[in-house]
Amino acid sequence: TTSDTTSDCVFCAIADGRIPAQVVAESERSVAFEDRTPAAPVHVLVIPRRHAATVAELAEASTDDLADLFAVIPEVARAKGITDYRLMVNSGASVGQTVFHAHVHVLGGADFTEASM
Ligand code: 5GP
Ligand code: ZN
Repeated sequence: TTSDTTSDCVFCAIADGRIPAQVVAESERSVAFEDRTPAAPVHVLVIPRRHAATVAELAEASTDDLADLFAVIPEVARAKGITDYRLMVNSGASVGQTVFHAHVHVLGGADFTEASM
């Protein structure tokens, strides 16, 4: 499933401004915003404005959108004042994906070296 927007997708609604979010960084193709239930001191989600269910579907739809999403990540780190961060992507319900609009979690602000997955 890939399209410009889907009316019943919460992250399309955030990208369109129909649902508010605390935007950290954005570009023509991507938006980064605070996770509403942070799992770390820094927890930002980066999404493509284009609807795609998973990052794999995004890559198949537009490698430009995928590249832009990753280009926004250093802007997120700068905006949040961190140098180190962990990127996490859930792809599929069985590994915990709950929102089926592609997104990358940017996690930081804590020492994760002891943490297991
Ligand atoms: P997933 O498990 O799908 O990789 O992660 C989805 C993430 O989206 C979760 O961390 C959840 O807290 C976040 N989230 C879900 N709905 C909303 C929302 O409406 N606003 C914001 N800011 N975050 C959301
Ligand atoms: Zn969407």
